[in-house]
Amino acid sequence: MYVFGHVGLTVAAARAVDRDVDLRWAALLALAPDLLDKPVSRLWPALVHHNSRGFGHTALFSLFILAALLLRKRRPKPALVLWGCYAGHFLLDAMWMNGNPAVLLWPLLGDFPRPVHGPLVSWLTVWYVVGEIAGLIVVVKLARRHGLLERPKLAAFLESGRLA
Ligand SMILES: [Zn+2]
Repeated sequence: MYVFGHVGLTVAAARAVDRDVDLRWAALLALAPDLLDKPVSRLWPALVHHNSRGFGHTALFSLFILAALLLRKRRPKPALVLWGCYAGHFLLDAMWMNGNPAVLLWPLLGDFPRPVHGPLVSWLTVWYVVGEIAGLIVVVKLARRHGLLERPKLAAFLESGRLA
C-alpha cells in the first residue's frame, strides 16, 4: 500500500482506539517502515537482496520501536496505540504474501528474500488500490470535518497533533 492507504487507514484506526492520539506520530509511524527501507534498498541494494522491504518491515525492528515508545511515553496505552500504527503497516502491506513472511520474521527464516513479482493484476493490486482510495477518503473527510484547509486550524493541528 502507499501513502494515503497507510496514513488514512492508520489514522482512522488510531482515532477509533484513542481519540487523544497524536496524529502526527500516528501518520509518521504508519509510513516509517517504508521511510526506512526504500532508501536502503536504493542506496545499498545488496544488503537487502534488492528487496524494498528490509529491516523496517521486520517484527524484530518493530520490537525496538515498541521499546523506544514505552521509554518515551512512560504510559503504556499511548505507546501501544502508536506501536499499533507501526505494526499496522505490516497488515496493510500484506506481509503474509509473496515471500514477505521471511522479511517479517527476519532473521529466523534466513536472509531477506529477493522480491517476488506476481501477475501484474492480482487480488493484491486490488487490495492496494482499494486501500489507497479508502485512505484518501479518510484523509479528505478528516481535513474537511476539522477545517484543516483553513490555515489557522491546520497550524493548530500541526502544532498539537490533535483534531479539534
Ligand atoms: Zn511497506
